[in-house]
Amino acid sequence: MSDCIFCKIVDKQIPSASVYEDADMLCFKDINPSAPVHLLLIPKVHFDSLAHAQAEHETLLGKMMLKVPQIAQEAGLTNGFKTLINTGKDGGQEVFHLHIHIMGTPA
Ligand code: 5GP
Ligand code: ZN
Repeated sequence: MSDCIFCKIVDKQIPSASVYEDADMLCFKDINPSAPVHLLLIPKVHFDSLAHAQAEHETLLGKMMLKVPQIAQEAGLTNGFKTLINTGKDGGQEVFHLHIHIMGTPA
């Protein structure tokens, strides 16, 4: 989606501090962190939110969830971390491209 800031990050039109990337997903540092480590894990394909996920995204979402602990570990969050998915305006979502917040303090 051409006017989506996270699609532009996927396309490298906007720079980001990337910590992980594969064919399906990208993880980068939140520009306004609310924890010492604050990462955003996004699918490369655009869909607006968890409420917009379709059956075709089932495998992708599974891959992303299984990648979260590995990314957290590599970011130094060896004793645990928080995950957050804001969904919709009333769910506090500000960027309408699905993303998983990964937050914590390195051990
Ligand atoms: P939401 O409220 O939608 O769950 O979270 C959106 C997050 O995206 C916020 O934590 C915000 O700081 C982050 N963010 C917004 N624009 C950018 C950007 O251009 N680059 C990066 N790295 N993070 C962004
Ligand atoms: Zn997008």
